[in-house]
Amino acid sequence: MDTLQDLIANSHNIVFFGGAGTSTESGIPDFRSVDGLYNTQYEYPPETILSHDFFMKNPKEFYRFYHQKMIHKQAKPNAAHIKLAELEKAGKLKAVITQNIDGLHQAAGSQNVWELHGSIHRNHCMKCGKFFDLSAIDNADNIPICSCGGIIKPDVVLYGEGLDNAVVSRSIDAITNCDVLIVGGTSLSVYPAAGLIRYYQGNKLVLINKSVTPYDHYANLCINDAIGQVLSAITL
Ligand code: ZN
Repeated sequence: MDTLQDLIANSHNIVFFGGAGTSTESGIPDFRSVDGLYNTQYEYPPETILSHDFFMKNPKEFYRFYHQKMIHKQAKPNAAHIKLAELEKAGKLKAVITQNIDGLHQAAGSQNVWELHGSIHRNHCMKCGKFFDLSAIDNADNIPICSCGGIIKPDVVLYGEGLDNAVVSRSIDAITNCDVLIVGGTSLSVYPAAGLIRYYQGNKLVLINKSVTPYDHYANLCINDAIGQVLSAITL
């Protein structure tokens, strides 16, 4: 912890790369985590339901899952989100790169957030392109429909869809040019996390994750603890 405190105190070019573990302390479970409910409530695994093909063929079942599992309206930013926003405000943190789609970094006040997998807060009509916020999805009984009759689709990267090129290149830029890279709440096993980390060229790579990851040896500093607990202990 002292080493982390020193790294943060002495840098004005920190980048944070976060995964699902960043939001679990806000009560948002990793949808990939083993959940017996899937077996009883859904005929397909989450990776199948959250795929492009499934959305196109069966939007009703997609949205049944999406409403129940992907939208967490009560979730609030936790200590990790709040500390990262404070670090940005203090001019120390340059960007947050996240695999999460919940918008909690922005809710905490972060400005420079690159959402690799999109966001539940942005949605577009597939027919006319009209923008909708989360309430349009949330207020729909099942499939949200635009006034033009088109189906509204979340700007969330589904399995079988490519990542947004601009978001990826900005993320690569931030990682390539940062001084301290803090990776938190991800096992780095999910595409494209591990690939992006390789762009880091410095020697201040910090890995914070509750459990051991296959990349721990790759880090200059490794802390096996909850990300919110670790970051909240940092003083500015
Ligand atoms: Zn429309």
